[in-house]
Amino acid sequence: MNLIFLGPPGVGKGTQAKHICEYYNILHLSTGDILRNEIKNASKIGLTAKSFIDKGALVPDNVLLDLIDARLNKHDAQSGYILDGFPRTIAQAEGLNNLMSEKSHHLDAVISLTADEEELINRLIKRGKDSGRSDDTPTIIKQRQKVYWEQTSPLIDYYIKKNVLLEIDGLGTVPEIRDRIVLAISSNA
Ligand code: ADP
Repeated sequence: MNLIFLGPPGVGKGTQAKHICEYYNILHLSTGDILRNEIKNASKIGLTAKSFIDKGALVPDNVLLDLIDARLNKHDAQSGYILDGFPRTIAQAEGLNNLMSEKSHHLDAVISLTADEEELINRLIKRGKDSGRSDDTPTIIKQRQKVYWEQTSPLIDYYIKKNVLLEIDGLGTVPEIRDRIVLAISSNA
């Protein structure tokens, strides 16, 4: 099973993606984690990515597409995955379509997690206090929200038109939301 997790910063995509990967025994691919790891290793990609991430901006599409292309070719990505934080632009989504069809990977569903903006900002400011992430400060959080509404939210309509979008209410406890996702996926199959 191959899934995409979509939603604004702070909605709990990462947490839910981890649970759902365990549930279905599939791979969790978080582009945020992959990029932070590149930064930690001071690789060329990491150095490029850091300048964008620290501003709350998106890393260029071609960087992400090359990264995902290479990652999806690996052996462990042939029996199912969740893409968490990717795609984030229409260009990335179009690129992903091409990559997946080249590799004969089928997209089963796009999980769109929703929550209201005020709740999201509060969650992120709270997380920033213990995540130590350089982009979890109030100014950068607002910038990331803005980038989400401008560049990423058009993907909701994009995937509705492709008939693969499952919208999930992201307010509630972690297990409640996980159960909603599992139910939506199994009723969709
Ligand atoms: P969140 O969902 O909490 O905003 P992520 O950990 O998914 O955070 O991503 C952190 C940052 O990494 C983003 O703000 C962006 O700069 C960069 N990034 C992650 N995924 C992508 C992507 N698909 N395209 C461009 N930039 C990305």
